[in-house]
Amino acid sequence: MTATLADHRIARIDSHVLRDHYPRTVGRNARLGSHGAGGSVPVAVVHTDTGATGWGIAAGDLQGTQGLVGRRVDDLLDPAVGTIEPQALPLDFALHDLAGQILGLPVHQLLGGRGETVVPCYDGAIYFDDLDPADAPRGLDAVLANCRADHDLGFRAFKLKIGRGHRWMDADAGLRRDIEVTRAVRAAYPEAEILVDANDGYTGESFLGYLDEVADCGLFWVEEPFQETRADLRRLRAELTRRGSGTLIADGEAAPDVPFLLHLSEEGLLDVLLMDVMSYGISRWRRVMPVLEEVGVRASPHAWGQPLKTLYAAQLAAGLGNVLVVEGVPGHTEGVDGSAYQLLDGMLHVPDAPGFGLPLPATTAPSG
Ligand SMILES: [Mg+2]
Repeated sequence: MTATLADHRIARIDSHVLRDHYPRTVGRNARLGSHGAGGSVPVAVVHTDTGATGWGIAAGDLQGTQGLVGRRVDDLLDPAVGTIEPQALPLDFALHDLAGQILGLPVHQLLGGRGETVVPCYDGAIYFDDLDPADAPRGLDAVLANCRADHDLGFRAFKLKIGRGHRWMDADAGLRRDIEVTRAVRAAYPEAEILVDANDGYTGESFLGYLDEVADCGLFWVEEPFQETRADLRRLRAELTRRGSGTLIADGEAAPDVPFLLHLSEEGLLDVLLMDVMSYGISRWRRVMPVLEEVGVRASPHAWGQPLKTLYAAQLAAGLGNVLVVEGVPGHTEGVDGSAYQLLDGMLHVPDAPGFGLPLPATTAPSG
C-alpha cells in the first residue's frame, strides 16, 4: 500500500446499520419524549482497489455515493481541506478514516494537530428521569443516581437538561424542579462543572427567573436557554455581567443559521457554538473553525445521540483546537472496539492510531 491518496481508487462502498446502547434508558428533555436506550447507526465502509479500508458514521443518504466507485481517493478528499467532492459528503467520516489509514496518520493530525489529545469531556446524558415512569415518577433521586453512575464512568462534569415547564410540567412547577435539580447536583458534586441545556424551553424573561435562583451554583454554561434573539441574548449577557458571572452562553445546535450565530458572537452575545459534529460534518467544521477563532468564539460540536459522535468530536477537538469541551454520550456501539479512547477523571484521551483509531467493526464484514 502506498502512502499517497492518488494511488488508491474506490472499489466498493458498503452500508451497514450498527446498534448503539446507552447504559440506561434516557428520558425526556424540554422538547422531546423518551430518548430510549439507544438506536440504529448507519455507517459506510469504503474499500479501495489496493485493499485499504475506512469506515465511519454515514453523514447523510448513501444512495448517491455509489457513483463514486472508480474515483481516485484524492479526487474526493484533500487531506488539507476535507471532502472536496460534494457527492461524497455522506462519506465525510469514512473518507477521513480512510485517508488516515492510507497515510498512517490519526485524523487529529490530518486536521492539523492544533489541539490537545487529552480533552475535557462532559456527561450529556442527564435528562428528565425524575419525571418517569409517568405513573410513579422517581423524582430527584433518579437524577442524582444517573450522575453517580456517570461519575463512576469517569465523568466529572454534568450537563443537566432543564425546561421541564415547557411541555411536561406547569411553568411554575417546572421552574421549581429545574432549580431543585440544579441545586441538588451542585450540592452533591461541589467540584463538578455544571452545564444546563433548556433546548429553547424557556423564554428570555422566564430564563432570568431560573438564573436568579441558581446564581450561586457557578454554572459553566447555559445552552439554548431560549430561541436565540439579539434582544433576549443582550438581556441575558447584561444580567451575567451585572452579577460578575463567568457562565458562558452556548447556542447553535438546533437548525443553526451560522452567519447569524457568527454575528451574535461578534457582538459578544455567544461564547460557544454547537453545530452538530455529524450533520454539520467534519469538513464544514474544518472550514468554519478558523472563522470562529477570528471572531473569538469557542466551539463544542454537538454529539448527543451516538457514542461514536463523541469520539469524532474529540478527534476534531484535538485536530482543530478551539474546542472548549466535548459532549460525552455514554454507551457503546455493537461491534465497535472503542477501547483506544479512554475517559479518565473527566478527560477523554484521543488515540494516535491511524484514522479514527476504531477497527472495522466485525459486524460490517462482508457476508460473502
Ligand atoms: Mg443541546
